[in-house]
Amino acid sequence: MVRIPIVHLSEGWHRMRLAHSVGELELVESPFRGQVEIEIQIERRGRQYLVLFETAAEAELCCDRCLEVYTERLVGAYSIFFAPEEPARLPAEEFRLLRAGDRELDVTDDVRQTVLLSLPLKQLCHEDCRGLCPECGVNLNLEPHRSGCPREVIGIGR
Ligand SMILES: [Zn+2]
Ligand SMILES: [Zn+2]
Repeated sequence: MVRIPIVHLSEGWHRMRLAHSVGELELVESPFRGQVEIEIQIERRGRQYLVLFETAAEAELCCDRCLEVYTERLVGAYSIFFAPEEPARLPAEEFRLLRAGDRELDVTDDVRQTVLLSLPLKQLCHEDCRGLCPECGVNLNLEPHRSGCPREVIGIGR
């Protein structure tokens, strides 16, 4: 659980670093592996808290073009404004109501969502991945297509 204690937090900006496993964050079913690093910046102004955080985690992805599995470190960011009552003018960040007895800010779900949203829509092992040959199916990153390559042998016919 990603909880930020606020009882003894002094006025102004603070920075903290946390790390939680994908298991703790219920991300086991996702492509993410190992630890999720979370860098938090929090500003206290009276009973108001502005929380900015960044996540970084390694994901095991499958390239859309060449179908190879590759690993990439993905980063995400999110910000939330906590206050005891809704401000007259809503902030740019997401607003969250702070209840009277709250001793900590629970951002577990926000961190999980931010990590999931850091997954790219298009997954490429590298930007100029050459993909698979449409003729013979070889991975063009590893070897070039040779004219007259034996389709039948490889088993990719059309
Ligand atoms: Zn690729
Ligand atoms: Zn080929």
